[in-house]
Amino acid sequence: MSERNFVSKRAMGVDASGIRKVFDLAAKMKDPINLSIGLPDFDVPLEVKKAAIESINAGQNRYTQTQGIAPLRERLRKDLSAEIGRDVGDVLITSGVSGGLLLAILTVIDPGDEAIFLDPYFVMYKHLLTMAGGKSVIVDSYPDFRFYADRVEKAITPRTKLLILNSPSNPTGVLMTEAEVRAAVELAKKHNLLILSDEIYEPFLYDVSGGLPSPAKFYENTLILRGFSKSHAMTGWRLGYAAGPAEVISQMTKLQQYTFVCAPSPLQYAALRALDVSMDEAVAAYRKKRDIVYEGLSKKFEVQKPEGAFYIFPKAPKSMTASDFVAKAIENNVLIIPGNVFSERDTHFRISYATTDEKLREGVEVLNRLAT
Ligand code: PMP
Repeated sequence: MSERNFVSKRAMGVDASGIRKVFDLAAKMKDPINLSIGLPDFDVPLEVKKAAIESINAGQNRYTQTQGIAPLRERLRKDLSAEIGRDVGDVLITSGVSGGLLLAILTVIDPGDEAIFLDPYFVMYKHLLTMAGGKSVIVDSYPDFRFYADRVEKAITPRTKLLILNSPSNPTGVLMTEAEVRAAVELAKKHNLLILSDEIYEPFLYDVSGGLPSPAKFYENTLILRGFSKSHAMTGWRLGYAAGPAEVISQMTKLQQYTFVCAPSPLQYAALRALDVSMDEAVAAYRKKRDIVYEGLSKKFEVQKPEGAFYIFPKAPKSMTASDFVAKAIENNVLIIPGNVFSERDTHFRISYATTDEKLREGVEVLNRLAT
């Protein structure tokens, strides 16, 4: 009797080996200096937790409308429209930005369609595109991780449909300047592309005034994805939102109905409360952490100064691959992630500085020692 393989080609096509190796190594470490975690080290603000509990006790535990509860959608539409400078239209509440990304890619990408994004990249883009039968076209942004319009334009073909931007970026912390955003928008207009702007790290901006230079400010065919995971440290609550061209949002809503159904109901009410909690102090604390890690590493490592998010992406010391350097760091009890998890190259490594200042200083010291 022949054994039947129940696993689809789609599932087989997704390669998770890189990050799994890091997790396997991490599992063996006792009390590591963990600089690998992609979430803030503070907890959900107390009054937001209380709002979630109140909401559960008040019986707000049933399905909501697929698109999310009206007061949250209306509030986000008002705030986003004020920021972007035009009415952004209906907002869809998603199950995290990950949920938004899946729905967006399923909505936009037909088999064979191409999506462009920069290397290094947030890993999920690649895998979601594979799942949808689309093609990832990855444009190198080394050594400084800037948006090089000429490189991007060379990668555009008649099948290109989507340009994915992620600013501030995971894993580099680089923030696109307004000029770079305008250049991206010019390309999108010229070649008729949808821009998917992953703005999950939007609140974590350290050096700009006037808010995030979002492509949505200059181009209506921009799909904005944002969320609460990072801004309010609620990665486990699975809340995000999407705003963009009406036909895209309405198709994403239809697909949400048959996948996630809705975002977690009581937590949507709590998110409404979260919007009135200032996170300025947290951002100031993260700016300080950015300074500790950047100043701490820049003498021994080739590194760009991050302007947002909570990551930094230094180059491994000469003559060493990033994987080798990371293995050495792990032997010395510092957990960092090799760049090849986020990149076609194995030359850099990602540090998340979302940890205590003390752990951060200890980690920086070990890394500097290993670099000599
Ligand atoms: N986009 C980026 C760039 C991210 O770093 C993350 C989380 N690490 C996500 C999207 C997904 O976040 P969530 O699903 O928790 O909202």
